[in-house]
Amino acid sequence: MTTTRFAPSPTGYIHVGNLRTALMNYMIARKAGGTFILRIDDTDPERSKEAYVDALKADLEWLGLHWDRVERQSERLDRYHDAADQLRANGRFYEAFETPTELDLKRKKQLNMGKPPVYDRAALELSEAEKDALRAERGTGVWRFKLDQQRIEWADGILGDISIDAASVSDPVLIRQDGQVLYTIASVVDDVEMGVTDVVRGSDHVTNTATQIQIIEALGGKAPRFAHHSLLTGPQGEALSKRLGTLALRDLREQGVEPMALLSLMARLGSSDPIELRTDMAALIEGFDISRFGSAPTKFDVADLFPLTGRYLQSQPLEAVADRIAAIGVPGDTADAFWTVMRDNIETLKDLDAWWALCRDGAEPVIEDEDREFVTEAMAMLPEAPFGADTWSTWTGAVKEASGRKGRGLFMPLRKALTGQAHGPDMAALMPLLQVVKAR
Ligand code: GLU
Repeated sequence: MTTTRFAPSPTGYIHVGNLRTALMNYMIARKAGGTFILRIDDTDPERSKEAYVDALKADLEWLGLHWDRVERQSERLDRYHDAADQLRANGRFYEAFETPTELDLKRKKQLNMGKPPVYDRAALELSEAEKDALRAERGTGVWRFKLDQQRIEWADGILGDISIDAASVSDPVLIRQDGQVLYTIASVVDDVEMGVTDVVRGSDHVTNTATQIQIIEALGGKAPRFAHHSLLTGPQGEALSKRLGTLALRDLREQGVEPMALLSLMARLGSSDPIELRTDMAALIEGFDISRFGSAPTKFDVADLFPLTGRYLQSQPLEAVADRIAAIGVPGDTADAFWTVMRDNIETLKDLDAWWALCRDGAEPVIEDEDREFVTEAMAMLPEAPFGADTWSTWTGAVKEASGRKGRGLFMPLRKALTGQAHGPDMAALMPLLQVVKAR
């Protein structure tokens, strides 16, 4: 039974980088008919906010990434302390008392001597009496996991065979001085107890994975399969980490990006499969294959989402957008014609607002100096609204006859006079929707 999880920390809004992780885990579970868990990693009481929990759930629901189960780490603290006791009993957990400043000094010395800045395990040498003295002086220490200093290996679903020398990694702190359980152990306990079979996360977690594999084994569990996807960069390969804050899913939604456009891009970006618009989740899941993703950094350009959104909207029938169209004030009997005409001329549904304003109120005409006389004469020939399906052809036929103009020289000045722009819907189809003409 395949079980995956998406495990965000509720310390901010989730962004496109998080979405990649969520989506891959979601699709693995769905493709296998397994379980997708939403796990809230909220062991940090200061940084975790309930508002972010609500927000990330709303974001996932907007995208249709429904979870089968939700778990919260803050409700499972006793499990993590049990696991810590087990590690203590196995001799794999030790208390260390160095202050951050002392650790920093040690690191600097190591680096000066050309050595990797790995914790020197000085705390392992302390006698019970020395520990008591340090405790009396500094309070409780932190708790570190004692790594087995051998190579840690796994077959990564994206990166291939990985081998990390545990001797090059510091013994991870799993419990802070104030008793707060850290993500590294909480995550391991959850993955084991919840039967997680596959973990996909960003490649910034590779070293974490190495230590977690040893912790899982020390707790008598079985490590899940791991896959680490590359990190996103901007279109020029520039780091995206600072800009991710502006690429929150709620901002994209606010800008009118459609869920299927976003999902279609993110489910294939960085893989050897082409990016094609999929209009439903089942098709997206069907073609998903984690082994097709590469380890190179993945370029992400927010601008790519808009043409995809436009194409998605073109594929949609009126029913899909009827509420939205009603909300901007388009009367029910006009909605179908309005949508049929406009869906090919928008990138997002927000663009409908301006098109409806144009139909309802008319546009500020744009008239070039050399066309002024021509447009004035043509407007005099335009019948009164309401216009019909053949108004455009009848009218432009008559104007052509009277003026001798034809082709672009005939049509473009009329389009610009009626719509205020050089581009837009087919004029014959637009005319019946046009209620006011300001160019007269
Ligand atoms: N809360 C962790 C994070 O957001 C989860 C990492 C993991 O998938 O284990 O980085």
